[in-house]
Amino acid sequence: MSLRPQHYQPSHEEGFMQSKISRRDLLHSGLIAGSMAPVFGLLASRAPAATLTPLDPNDPTAKALGFVADSAKVDASANPTHTAAQKCGTCAQFQGKAGDATGGCNIFVGHSVPQGGWCKVWAQKPA
Ligand code: SF4
Repeated sequence: MSLRPQHYQPSHEEGFMQSKISRRDLLHSGLIAGSMAPVFGLLASRAPAATLTPLDPNDPTAKALGFVADSAKVDASANPTHTAAQKCGTCAQFQGKAGDATGGCNIFVGHSVPQGGWCKVWAQKPA
């Protein structure tokens, strides 16, 4: 219950302080949220494959990036630089370990991709 009169109007200075605190709080919470975003992304992409949802090839982003669950089924005419060795399991974005059937992907956060899959973002995993 407020102790202020019913028609209380904050003074100019009180209004300024409230808006100053509000802006500071917003800025502070925004900085925290912004600084935590990469951490959440990292945690999400490193989550065990069992907690990830298999990537649907019909997902709009997956479609736009030409994702296929089987690298052997890549449309060669649309992707002339694709080779048989290019698979999710050899991609720098793949989060699974060698031999894992599926793993997370840094591009499709929250989803798992099969080690034999492929998309246009493929880049050789460093040795
Ligand atoms: S970025 Fe790499 S791991 Fe992710 S779907 Fe594309 S090829 Fe597979």
